[in-house]
Amino acid sequence: PSLIREIYVEVPEVHWDDIGGLEDVKQQLREAVEWPLKHPEVFESMGIRPPKGILLFGPPGVGKTLLAKAAATESGANFIAVRGPEILSKWVGESEKAIREIFRRARQVAPTIIFFDEIDAIAPARGMRHDTSGVTDRIVNQLLTEMDGIVPLQNVVVIAATNRPDILDPALLRPGRFDRLIYVPPPDKKARLEIFRIHTRKMPLADDVDLEKLAEMTEGYTGADIEAVCREAAMIALREAIQKGQGLKPQPVRMEHFLKALKAVPPSL
Ligand code: ATP
Repeated sequence: PSLIREIYVEVPEVHWDDIGGLEDVKQQLREAVEWPLKHPEVFESMGIRPPKGILLFGPPGVGKTLLAKAAATESGANFIAVRGPEILSKWVGESEKAIREIFRRARQVAPTIIFFDEIDAIAPARGMRHDTSGVTDRIVNQLLTEMDGIVPLQNVVVIAATNRPDILDPALLRPGRFDRLIYVPPPDKKARLEIFRIHTRKMPLADDVDLEKLAEMTEGYTGADIEAVCREAAMIALREAIQKGQGLKPQPVRMEHFLKALKAVPPSL
């Protein structure tokens, strides 16, 4: 069976304005990924090289995957998402080959963004490696070889994400590899308001819903937490209608539903 069929190429549909806050990060990705993928000739004429690899780091649930997808959508690029742990579990004994095939497929369907989530799982620093078989060494070496082989402005960009940049093999961070490090912070109040707006865009909200107030009350909530709060509030509204014997029908979501949802979904930070 060919590995190549298992490599799933998608065209995401996430736009920059589906992401709340993170204006600086979005701008950096526009410049480092979108501009060179869309207009390589301009970079050529300016005599500058865009980065081959970008490392997004920050706590879980703050939108790293979303950012990588938006970079692909907005650049008109294909997207290959690979989770670090999957390279080890899904392709036991074939992990190096998997890395090779991922890059080969990416070149085939270029322009492509390859997204390695939880990259620390496949490329931990030497002292953090637990295997004695040398599998990790070989995977890291294959990844470095592929990154070194990327020809700038040939339409393959690698974005990786981790919560633990401190445990990564430093060889990954050398020039020409993941040489752009971008911190993705948890949302501040203004960003939380934007995230609430995004995740209630299609929700029938009652007039008493005060998203500003909710943004204020959700210090320590990530974007993923806020999405969960919005979903839970809507579910509470539905359950309430069922209890009242009104049947399963769309319901306005009220402030009290959100307040109950906040109790059910604790902040992850
Ligand atoms: P992990 O490290 O766990 O993979 P992550 O940083 O990649 O987390 P995402 O997977 O991008 O986080 O976020 C999970 C979900 O949370 C997203 O699909 C989205 O619905 C919501 N979310 C997170 N951050 C934001 C944000 N800034 N704006 C809007 N939605 C967000």
